[in-house]
Amino acid sequence: MNRRASAFELGGHPLQYREFGNTGVKLSALGFGAMRLPQDEEYAVEVIRRSFELGVNYLDTARGYGESERICGRALKGWRDKVYVSTKNPLQDNTVEGWWSRLNTSLETLDIDCIDFYQVVHSLRWQNYEEFLVQGGGMEAVRKARDQGLIKHVCFSCHDTPENMIKLIDTGEFEGMTVQYNLLDRRNEIAIAHANACGMGVIVMGPVGGGRLAAPSEQIRKLIPTPVASNAEIALRFVLSNPNVTCAISGMNTIEMVEENAAVASREEPLTLEEKKAVEAALAEVQRLSDLYCTGCRYCMPCPNEVNIPENFRLMNLHRLYGLTEYARAGYRSVSNPERPKRGKRAEDCVECGECEPKCPQNIPIIAQLKEVARELGS
Ligand code: SF4
Ligand code: SF4
Repeated sequence: MNRRASAFELGGHPLQYREFGNTGVKLSALGFGAMRLPQDEEYAVEVIRRSFELGVNYLDTARGYGESERICGRALKGWRDKVYVSTKNPLQDNTVEGWWSRLNTSLETLDIDCIDFYQVVHSLRWQNYEEFLVQGGGMEAVRKARDQGLIKHVCFSCHDTPENMIKLIDTGEFEGMTVQYNLLDRRNEIAIAHANACGMGVIVMGPVGGGRLAAPSEQIRKLIPTPVASNAEIALRFVLSNPNVTCAISGMNTIEMVEENAAVASREEPLTLEEKKAVEAALAEVQRLSDLYCTGCRYCMPCPNEVNIPENFRLMNLHRLYGLTEYARAGYRSVSNPERPKRGKRAEDCVECGECEPKCPQNIPIIAQLKEVARELGS
């Protein structure tokens, strides 16, 4: 096989590396997210290895990502001593036996002896922490697995509220966390800063919003005054400009995407101070000028009919202000999902009781706006 060009030969700089909390490990600012790999397995292996060639040293997979662990295991052959592996244990049955069995399956499928960064529960919630990790004996199993050398760094991935993330950080049990964060969804910013201040590493998933932020949108393009190759570049540069973030994992489907993202993660300064200020000011201004100036304060909540008012408005603004219509519609569909009751209900479930409107400090005509959300984002 022909040797490919290195980052230097491509005319770029080597990737940036950042300390993962207090572990002493340095991770590349760009990680490989293996949730949705290319269909062609040989090509998938090639794409993953291309990222390794360019200096990516963090590979993130999960037991729940179909064939991903097995394909990652193949890609790791010949690279194991240069790459850190992360995988995740889905909490299927709340039993310690089940947890051990899934850990062992991951080790076998990846064909490795030790998982470097183990998300001991995939999508950990505070309730799981209390019920499984503390009362159910899960944390003892985690310590045992670490003592046996099967896992190295104890971490979690999380989609819980920022408040609960902070509670998980404050338990002092974890060395790192993997959470969602991007240009248009900064809800976890405070939890990310808290984790960093507590000596934890932070992995960001969805830096380009599952690829949707990469969609052509003039509004996004205009956020940075200087020329950029794509919206994905702006989104990735924004995440990496946060010094509390150790590594952003991006799902990359082509060699070209790997090379573009590696070039972005090689910049010493992802955004200059002026660019960062310009992005933040532009985001705030667009929001301020919108008819739907919902600050997400949640004073209107709870709704007796469980409508998630701020979430419906957030999605509407993504559509209306940033032209991210498909992203917003997909988000809207995922509200009212019976498997995720905490997401609440959609705009169309409003029964117009009127309880929320007097509580809104922005005087938003909530009922009328919810009707518009249902019209624009519903089927
Ligand atoms: S008016 Fe609609 S959104 Fe507001 S509290 Fe009543 S049901 Fe909920
Ligand atoms: S009270 Fe008003 S501004 Fe606050 S979350 Fe509800 S709708 Fe948005």
